[in-house]
Amino acid sequence: MLLNDKVAIVTGGGSGIGEATSIRFSREGAAVIVADMRFRKAEAVANQNNDEGGHATAIEVDVSIAESVEALVDKTLSQYGRLDVMFNNAGTLRPGSVVDLEVDDWDLVMGVNVRSVFLGGKFAIPAMLSSGGGSIINTASISGLHGDGGAVAYAASKAAVINLTRAMSTDHARDGIRINAICPGTIETPSLHERMDSMAEKLGSKKAAEEWFVSRQPMGRLGQPDEIASLIIYLLSDAGSYATGQPFIVDGGTIA
Ligand code: NAD
Repeated sequence: MLLNDKVAIVTGGGSGIGEATSIRFSREGAAVIVADMRFRKAEAVANQNNDEGGHATAIEVDVSIAESVEALVDKTLSQYGRLDVMFNNAGTLRPGSVVDLEVDDWDLVMGVNVRSVFLGGKFAIPAMLSSGGGSIINTASISGLHGDGGAVAYAASKAAVINLTRAMSTDHARDGIRINAICPGTIETPSLHERMDSMAEKLGSKKAAEEWFVSRQPMGRLGQPDEIASLIIYLLSDAGSYATGQPFIVDGGTIA
């Protein structure tokens, strides 16, 4: 078990990549705090972990609000006494060009995708220092590596996550805290299915929307959340001990 005795927070743990990763963390021996703004979803994932013999707790959080993230870390420390892993994963997407996008949607995307990573680091790092070190993974996207037209706020937010990761990692490299970003490609999660549903009207059907996404993948298929969890386990384990400050791409070859 690669994460034995570790205590890990997973934001956005109630769905998609966060759900798959929470389950893998449990299977690798970690105690998992499944944190999500949708408490029922987080609770269902925590229950599944516990049914499999893991130690999981669900906590409601809004990752864009400082008091909420601070309370999440405080509750973790009072329940488990330490924090080893912070997976800043919750994210959101609002489509739109710079002309079409509503100003409030720009602020929402920046709050949930970027402010969250700042807040996650701000409150998790002092807790990790008192536990003797730790590791942070921030979920970026390949959208942060190329001009993802039609989703300008999302693209800008994920590019910000990548460089925030670099800056955070250099500040804390000597503290025993490694900080990396992951850049998934197109992963089959509930949020991707919502995007397909919203494109279905324009493309004629949901099947046509799915085919459009698949046609852009060099491997001819979408990625699965568990394939992202595998990279995260590597980065958190001793096998990843010299990796810090980097965006790691798992996209089935899309960027290539
Ligand atoms: P998802 O919608 O399945 O899960 C996201 C979870 O985050 C949801 O349970 C939601 O309730 C939670 N959440 C949203 N806003 C929140 C907030 N303010 N506070 C707390 N929780 C909040 O999505 P997913 O596809 O698994 O995405 C997870 C991460 O991966 C996101 O950061 C997303 O941008 C990123 N990503 C996804 C893909 C993809 O193709 N699915 C690709 C690249 C990057």
